[in-house]
Amino acid sequence: MSLDNVLFKNVNIIDGTGADRFSGQVLIEGNRIKRIALNDDNLDSDNVRVIDGAGKTLMPGLCDAHLHLTWNDQPTLEFITMMPPEEHLIHSVNVARKLLDSGFTSGVGAASARPRFDCVLRNAINEGHIVGPRYLANTQEITTTGGLGDTSPPHVDIDELSFGWRISGPDEMRKTVRQFIKYGVDLIKLNLSGEEITPIPARATTMSEEEVDMAMTEARRYGIRACAHARSADSVKQCLDHGIEIIYHASFADEECLDRLEEHKDKFFVGPGLAWLVQTAYGAAEFGIPPESELAQAYANELEVAVEAMKKMHARGGIRVLPGGDYGFAWTPHGTNAKDLQYFVEMIGMTPMEAIVSATKMGGEIMGQPNSLGLIAEGYFADVLLVDGNPEEDITVLQDHNKLEIIMKDGEFHKDLT
Ligand SMILES: [Zn+2]
Repeated sequence: MSLDNVLFKNVNIIDGTGADRFSGQVLIEGNRIKRIALNDDNLDSDNVRVIDGAGKTLMPGLCDAHLHLTWNDQPTLEFITMMPPEEHLIHSVNVARKLLDSGFTSGVGAASARPRFDCVLRNAINEGHIVGPRYLANTQEITTTGGLGDTSPPHVDIDELSFGWRISGPDEMRKTVRQFIKYGVDLIKLNLSGEEITPIPARATTMSEEEVDMAMTEARRYGIRACAHARSADSVKQCLDHGIEIIYHASFADEECLDRLEEHKDKFFVGPGLAWLVQTAYGAAEFGIPPESELAQAYANELEVAVEAMKKMHARGGIRVLPGGDYGFAWTPHGTNAKDLQYFVEMIGMTPMEAIVSATKMGGEIMGQPNSLGLIAEGYFADVLLVDGNPEEDITVLQDHNKLEIIMKDGEFHKDLT
């Protein structure tokens, strides 16, 4: 007889709401959390495998709010699409597994390197053909001709060589958004501002109002949400004006942005992507970007400004700031994603519990499933981690894959006790 249900006994539960850790037991039936009880309660245990947690931590699986399964650990945007599609797809399949190995049971796709990869990966995960986190599939980065992500060389205009999907004008935007919706995306991604590693600086805002308006008109028509690469203050305002819910980076958000984010804190999410800034400024020397270089210093400067902006958001309370560090470049390898929680604690000044909430409860919210995902709560999906340690005391324990003793997604063991 197979044991369909699982009872975690004697675990210290971090439920993801921000409540204190408490000792108890959790019964999982099928793919849902059925009951949560204190240790002395007698939970019905028919057909159940009992796991004695010996005081270890049971917590919700993590969510990476800015995830690129198709970034292939290259040192430049150009190199990402130089990998031939066949190898690239296999690489992406392995990344999906690696994310789950790292305790991330959910992720918001923050753009796909090729038109259909994100949708194909999401479908394969959902159909059980490959393993990976719950995943929201995105478009390629939709950018303006010559904007961030237009990596086609000036003398050869080949879409396959461009990392971003290029548009000029509202009509091209309409066609592009409809095309990606045809592929089955959950989200669209707009590149509104630049990026220091490219010729377009981070403070530049490249997409026109008409283009953004058309993108959102089409997305709304089909009930599709949007996210944006928005480093400059003006690009953050475009997100606020046009209802782009997921605002990535927001490094140069000014007081007006902060006021408006606070006013509409239940609508918007901010994903600063700190790992990318930290590692490009200080951790990319072996890839030709030493910390004393002009490029690294530009990132160090942006990091300083971004951290101040995030501290202000945190101080205002209620503005949702989520982890997800643009992992998948050579110096931000996939699988190190839990570092973002450490940055939140050490740089922004969150408590470890606040950082955990940003990766769990808010993860359920940004995934669009606030009532069924991201918490250890009755009726929620059984996405849980058994951690040998207390992340409330040491948030870095979540980076140590050996300490993630059990990784369960949708009631299935991805990793079990050995
Ligand atoms: Zn990104």
